[in-house]
Amino acid sequence: QAKRAGRGTYRYYTEALTAAAQNKLTLDTRLRRALEQREFELYYQPLYRIADRRLIGLEALVRLNQPGLPPVGPADFIPVLEENGQITALGAWVTQEACRQGRAWLDEGLDFGRIAINLSPQEVRRGQTDERVRAALQASGLPADRLELEITESGLMEQGERAEAFLHNLRSIGVQLAIDDFGTGYSSLAYLKRFPVSKLKIDRGFVRDLPGDVSDAQLVQTMISMGRNLGISVVAEGVETEAQLDYLHELGCESAQGYLFSKPRPASEARAWLPRLAEAPSLKADSEGEPA
Ligand code: C2E
Ligand code: MG
Ligand code: MG
Ligand code: MG
Repeated sequence: QAKRAGRGTYRYYTEALTAAAQNKLTLDTRLRRALEQREFELYYQPLYRIADRRLIGLEALVRLNQPGLPPVGPADFIPVLEENGQITALGAWVTQEACRQGRAWLDEGLDFGRIAINLSPQEVRRGQTDERVRAALQASGLPADRLELEITESGLMEQGERAEAFLHNLRSIGVQLAIDDFGTGYSSLAYLKRFPVSKLKIDRGFVRDLPGDVSDAQLVQTMISMGRNLGISVVAEGVETEAQLDYLHELGCESAQGYLFSKPRPASEARAWLPRLAEAPSLKADSEGEPA
């Protein structure tokens, strides 16, 4: 086909390919510099319980903010780091930084529920993640039950027994495991039994067309009842409207995250959402029975 289209098309493809290669080179160089000079930043997006709109957690999402250069999102640069093997270097920094920030907020008397960080499949596969998470917890002094790891279904499915063992180990010290983009991966549901899953995050692709789309509504309902039956909490991602939120509440969905509440924000702005530790009555109520 390209041949029949002639020389002009051929040249077009060559130029496009060269531009793509150069862009990738530039991004590669930028990423190397960013890792060396610590130019990444963590933004935080809040998760709320729908019933009383209480903040239950923050998801840490990495940003690349290099002065004078156009911003690039993680959807574009994470795959490059996964390809060149540097994702573990970024992951190490993300883990340390999220733990440090969480501890700092606790020291200021601020509550955030849990901080969730995203792990790439590669990070699960390469053995050091277990030690790295433990080391970050220990160095920061963040209690282990304040940390949650988000992994996609495909990420878990690609992994063997080694991941199973280390996730159970981390769970035994209190670290939580959330399934990210739930419903989009290639998977057998057997992994819900195999891995110590504490949360399902319904992919925003299923939420977008609620409440109108009947088949999305049915799928979401199924995911919610599955979570409930298994004793796993369920969060809807990408909630942008009150209508979606109301409908999710009707379906029995526990919590939600999305632009309706807030986009991801830098730590300095995220702190404005955080209640004081002393004023978190329901945390106390959970662990100490009836509040006074
Ligand atoms: P994710 O973990 O599924 O994160 C949710 C993404 O949806 C975030 O995009 C977030 O900004 C976006 N989002 C949240 N609410 C809404 C909404 O209401 N509407 C819409 N349209 N989007 C919403 P972001 O920050 O660009 O991150 C993209 C992906 O990059 C993440 O998807 C995650 O897979 C990956 N990622 C981000 N940070 C890290 C990290 O530190 N490590 C690794 N390995 N991956 C990361
Ligand atoms: Mg996530
Ligand atoms: Mg997600
Ligand atoms: Mg995703």
